[in-house]
Amino acid sequence: MPLPWLHDTQARLAQSYRAERFHHAQLFCGPVGVGKFELSDELGNALLCQNIAKQVAAQNSMLKPCGHCKSCLLTLAGTHPDKRLTQVDGQSIGVDDIRGISDFMNHSAAQNGNKVAIIENCEKMTTAAANALLKTLEEPTNSRFLILTTSQPAQLPATILSRCAKSDVKITNTALAQQWLETLDIPNYSWLALFYNQPLQVKHWQQQDQLKNIDTLYKFATEFKQSHNFKALVDIINKQPELVRIFTLFLSVQLKQQLLQGMSFDAYQSAQNALGEFLQNNTQVLGLNLPLAVSRLAYTLRNS
Ligand SMILES: [Zn+2]
Repeated sequence: MPLPWLHDTQARLAQSYRAERFHHAQLFCGPVGVGKFELSDELGNALLCQNIAKQVAAQNSMLKPCGHCKSCLLTLAGTHPDKRLTQVDGQSIGVDDIRGISDFMNHSAAQNGNKVAIIENCEKMTTAAANALLKTLEEPTNSRFLILTTSQPAQLPATILSRCAKSDVKITNTALAQQWLETLDIPNYSWLALFYNQPLQVKHWQQQDQLKNIDTLYKFATEFKQSHNFKALVDIINKQPELVRIFTLFLSVQLKQQLLQGMSFDAYQSAQNALGEFLQNNTQVLGLNLPLAVSRLAYTLRNS
């Protein structure tokens, strides 16, 4: 399904391609779930398409694959030899991963001559990996394209940033995201609007059957000061530790509302600090006693 909020970025990329200003290294920055990967994947497929010249020649055409040439059939099958995707889950992107990409780029292409390497979450590169990538960035080769994505551009070395064409991928018209989410048959949860800037995150939760858990976290956050039994909350976070960020986001939103309703700024500040500490402990302390940490947080917020 097309992601309508990507249209402007895609149009700009097509424009630069038509004007022969298309940069060999593209960097897409934006929040988790905004569609950076979908954008990279389609751009990569377009660059590999054998009809790319015809596709972009049409005045209003986007940089899209034709869908029926030999290259497109290979990308659709997920077996295109000139396309390489680097995706890591959790751990870092090491120097060997980047050397693998350099080797890939240096070998001749099997199909229309272009080769495309996509690196997702490129902020996960180690310093050595980033240095190795610099060589590829500094010595661009014809018909070789590198597409990087990140939700944390501030963590990237300036040397990498300055050698890429950077696009900020964001949703400027949240109505587009809202309408798109409506087509997915997602119940109209009251917290949904908090994620209109990252709709694919919501879709991911739907696919993982997590929406009810997210809703439970939201309910806990809204009634946190009155609650004393946190078992359901602890169970969800124990099973899905990454959801602790969502729970603290919900609590933080609650605190902002209380500030608007007259909570003192000092109390607000110390509550936000307690929240930050809770999140940090959850992501950094091994073997954290979660039930105790949750009770302690509730105690602090109740007394702030
Ligand atoms: Zn094609």
